[in-house]
Amino acid sequence: MSNQAVTVIGLGPMGRAMARTFLDNGHAVTVWNRTPSRADELVADGAVRAATVRDALAANELVVLSLTGHDAMYAILEPAADALAGRVLVNLSSDTPERSRAAAAWATGLGARYLTGGVQASPSGIGKPGSATFYSGPEEDFQAHRGTLAVLTGTDYVGADPGAAALYYQLQMDMFWTSMLSFLHALAVADANGISAREFLPHATATAASVPGFLAFYAPRVDAGDHTGDVDRLAMGTASVEHVRHTAADAGVDTTLPDAVLTAFRRAMEAGHAADSFTSVIEVFREGAS
Ligand code: NDP
Repeated sequence: MSNQAVTVIGLGPMGRAMARTFLDNGHAVTVWNRTPSRADELVADGAVRAATVRDALAANELVVLSLTGHDAMYAILEPAADALAGRVLVNLSSDTPERSRAAAAWATGLGARYLTGGVQASPSGIGKPGSATFYSGPEEDFQAHRGTLAVLTGTDYVGADPGAAALYYQLQMDMFWTSMLSFLHALAVADANGISAREFLPHATATAASVPGFLAFYAPRVDAGDHTGDVDRLAMGTASVEHVRHTAADAGVDTTLPDAVLTAFRRAMEAGHAADSFTSVIEVFREGAS
């Protein structure tokens, strides 16, 4: 049996990497992009350029979307909405769980099948081992196309709710961006003290390597609502972050990031958690904005 043919709509760095990977793995690929020139190299290497979105949808049952977000999807697909019936849309564009649910309802209302995907890889990781994508939506649609989608990354099915893959993706991003900004902030303080990013790298790596142990220790406690201050106390953590803040300020570095941490810590202190673990800050987060 020949490999399943695929349409890829959206040829940013990610969509191009996906279309290229499908081609490299022997799939016939039809592509469409708002800026047509982004398809040139793929077309030179065997992809078919659809003249219109309608043609792109008509070409194949399986349609992968790789766009900036759902606004782009509506901008592209609404004018061709009557061509969606019978298509399986796999939306690998990042957006919120709520907007993913709305997109799934919109597409299925037009007779399409709809899977949400959250890609945990950079474009250079597509088609390589070690990366994965969260998928959610009707399980039979996921299973029917799993083999083709697995050409791109590993597949991690997280349930029928079309918002679930977006949720898991955003949880990862919640951690990723704040972690990466903390890295950048430390680098700015290091740089102000004459230490290059490269020199600091082994120490940053050691800090990052210690994180999984903390996650494994605290996760069951958080689930149990156990914020016992036996191994750390919020008052100690607050003093520690104040030292971080002052070290940054003394170096002339912006303190927005430690200030945000201090704001959360102080709110938890004011709520009576000084002698509890720093994990009690989650109660502040759960209360929402003050
Ligand atoms: P880009 O933002 O570069 O992709 C943009 C694509 O969306 C282009 O094809 C662009 O068309 C199209 N687009 C944007 N707005 C519109 C619009 N209003 N109408 C029509 N087309 C539009 O993103 P990437 O390729 O980097 O990523 C694609 C998705 O993958 C994103 O949702 C991203 O969050 C996600 N992702 C990306 C990762 C990465 O490292 N790049 C990692 C993990 C996930 P045009 O070329 O004409 O501008």
